Amino acid sequence: MASIILKGSGQKMPIVGFGLWKVTKSSCADTVYNAIKHGYRLLDGAGDYGNEKEAGEGVARAIKDGLVKREELFITSKLWNTFHAREHVRQMADYQLKLWGIEYFDLFLIHFPVSLKYVDPGHRYPPEWFGDDGKVYTQNTPIQETWEAMEELHSAGLAKNIGISNFAGGLIIDLMRYARVPPAVLQIEHHPYLTQEHLVRLAQEFGIAITAYSSFGPQSFVELNMDRDAKLLLEHDTVTSIAAEHDKTPAQVLLRWATQRGIAVIPKSNNQKRLEQNLHCIDFNLSPEQIKEISSLNHNLRFNDPADIDVRLSIFA
Ligand code: NAD
Repeated sequence: MASIILKGSGQKMPIVGFGLWKVTKSSCADTVYNAIKHGYRLLDGAGDYGNEKEAGEGVARAIKDGLVKREELFITSKLWNTFHAREHVRQMADYQLKLWGIEYFDLFLIHFPVSLKYVDPGHRYPPEWFGDDGKVYTQNTPIQETWEAMEELHSAGLAKNIGISNFAGGLIIDLMRYARVPPAVLQIEHHPYLTQEHLVRLAQEFGIAITAYSSFGPQSFVELNMDRDAKLLLEHDTVTSIAAEHDKTPAQVLLRWATQRGIAVIPKSNNQKRLEQNLHCIDFNLSPEQIKEISSLNHNLRFNDPADIDVRLSIFA
């Protein structure tokens, strides 16, 4: 499996992983087991996905059946917005590791750069964006405090690598001023409708590896009615004609468009054939012209924007 070497730890992060958002609790253990069986070694989870326990069961079964060893897996999870206070970062890392049934995360990310009021996991987990009354409550925890607590997790060996997600340039520049342990990875929405060239170059300049999420653009958001009526990338003429030229699927072309530029991907699928197809997306090369043609579809169209929930969450404004 091709990989990216992470600065700091020197650990190899597989360039193609498996995303766990919207994988239902009831199917998650089997889905994770199958993904590992088919060759996936990176699992991208999060407290917010509500399936960490089940994902961990899939991992445990795969290890028990001898499909893989723990050290051959790269397990990512994320810290939710309600746990940004120093004392909650460690509490949640312990809590989430226990759910997974593992001793350490290979990568632990701050999910979004916005702090929300603490919700006791005993009361509601995952807490999502809203309080019990359906309103959003922010909390005054600066990112520096959260990052220092993330660094403590790293020192304690609970997270081999630490990183950030959904951070924009200004905040990354600021974080780099004080980080004792710089972020190893930046996970961002990235697809041909949202190429974020400057952000990608900034992260690369800092030696921060990039993981793209929602590589298929609107596809993931159709079921949530959040696709902004965008033309599906998997059906876009530019993508389908390039796919035909290579005898590959549109999904493979979209994934290769990212990986060929050194950007890791974490596609999600509950479908066995697609899951396999997505993993085998690096055995061909797009021409520089084809990459350019796909990139030219960019029109800064973002699907995952917390500003849609509440204007105080306008992290990309
Ligand atoms: P995705 O781009 O992987 O798309 C998933 C959708 O595409 C699903 O509807 C699936 O059925 C379909 N699909 C998958 N493979 C296909 C194929 N080969 N052919 C046709 N259709 C196919 O979307 P995603 O789940 O939004 O993103 C991937 C992962 O990124 C998530 O599972 C999660 O782990 C991560 N993520 C992170 C954040 C964050 O804030 N950090 C946000 C969103 C997603």
